[in-house]
Amino acid sequence: MKKVLILGGGAGGVVVASRLAKRLKDSVEITLVDKNPYHEFRPSYLWVTMGIREPDDVRRPLSLLGERGVKILNEEVTDINPAERKVKTSKRTLDYDYLIVALGAELRPDLLPGADKAYHAWELNDALKLREAVARFRGGKILVGPASVPYRCSPAPFELALMLRYLSEQRGVSEKTEITVFHPWRVPMEPFGPFMQNMFKGFLEQFNVEFIGSWETERIDGEKKRIVSKKGDELEYDLAVVIPPHRPARPIEGTELISKDTGYMNVSRKTLRNPKYDDVFGVGDIVASTLNLGMAGVFAHFEGDFVASQIIDEVKGTYMAMTYNKTGVCVMDVGYLGAAVFCDFSGVIDGVSEYPECWVLGGMKAFRGAKVMFEKMWFAEIFGR
Ligand SMILES: Cc1cc2nc3c(=O)[nH]c(=O)nc-3n(C[C@H](O)[C@H](O)[C@H](O)COP(=O)(O)OP(=O)(O)OC[C@H]3O[C@@H](n4cnc5c(N)ncnc54)[C@H](O)[C@@H]3O)c2cc1C
Repeated sequence: MKKVLILGGGAGGVVVASRLAKRLKDSVEITLVDKNPYHEFRPSYLWVTMGIREPDDVRRPLSLLGERGVKILNEEVTDINPAERKVKTSKRTLDYDYLIVALGAELRPDLLPGADKAYHAWELNDALKLREAVARFRGGKILVGPASVPYRCSPAPFELALMLRYLSEQRGVSEKTEITVFHPWRVPMEPFGPFMQNMFKGFLEQFNVEFIGSWETERIDGEKKRIVSKKGDELEYDLAVVIPPHRPARPIEGTELISKDTGYMNVSRKTLRNPKYDDVFGVGDIVASTLNLGMAGVFAHFEGDFVASQIIDEVKGTYMAMTYNKTGVCVMDVGYLGAAVFCDFSGVIDGVSEYPECWVLGGMKAFRGAKVMFEKMWFAEIFGR
């Protein structure tokens, strides 16, 4: 039996595992390794912060995939050796016929001096800590922004800032609350083109959230309660939400799998295979920069579908699946209203256009329902519950 080894049980890894289990359970051995025993649905971290979700609502044990024929190893991946087709974990050495690297990006607060003086919601535990800080907040200056780009989910800091405006209004402290998004981009959603830039500018103006662009964070001064930029400018805060720098997951460091241009994993834009080792695929955040994309679960999902379909085709002889779907959908709930943002990134991935083609649906509260449906369908489809 051929061996398929999947590294990472986040959005990309579980899609590949569940698609392969459905079609090839009896003809290949499927193993998935993750250091976390749970798959976490990261888009719902913001709802954890807002107190409308608890940790167990937004995660499922990866062991549930065992019922579908996937062998789950709860171990840390430490080393990948594509020349010898071997992967080392904290407990063993594994070999493979097909390797799928879906290890995502890693948060690196150690690269931001003073990071421990700020909060964020980019991992589950941190979302819970931010929830406690928000619970104590009774008005003042809130700063929200990323220490650097890229980071998981381009629109999420804007969404979080708008949620905090809604919450401060609900609490009756909106008039004494200033909310500012700071960002390395010159304008909100800069890489998404003029349509989305204007849409987001409009949302921020409507709900009285200031935007400071071209801001490169140098450090956080916890004593003076200031965020300091690389140019020496300072922003004062009572509550600072700073997304730590992101870097590729460590196991690809120092391997031949890295792209010299992006520092993330190198894959062909057409096949998602590594150009040197065509039995090694990459999906999700670990390849996003190489594909000229932001980090989003929806990309990881469609990339996972596409990679699984190539393996199914090779093993079965024929299998006509969907071709690589290069659209991204993000459903936002900011309390006042929700919106679904659709963007087609085909031209961006193929290197023929600067911006994706985007549409926005919404402006109604009913979109919170759409987001709930998305979350429920995700768990039901992959884990059956
Ligand atoms: C607050 C927030 C809101 C978001 N909202 C949206 C949204 O609305 N829409 C959207 O499309 N995306 C959203 N995202 C982004 C989305 O969650 C990520 O882009 C997506 O999870 C990437 O999937 P992935 O499989 O590449 O990586 P991940 O989901 O990060 O999974 C990587 C997995 O690899 C494991 N791993 C890493 N290193 C090792 C190792 N050494 N050994 C073993 N295991 C390891 C990790 O434990 C993890 O399970 C959001 C993210 C955040 C934080």
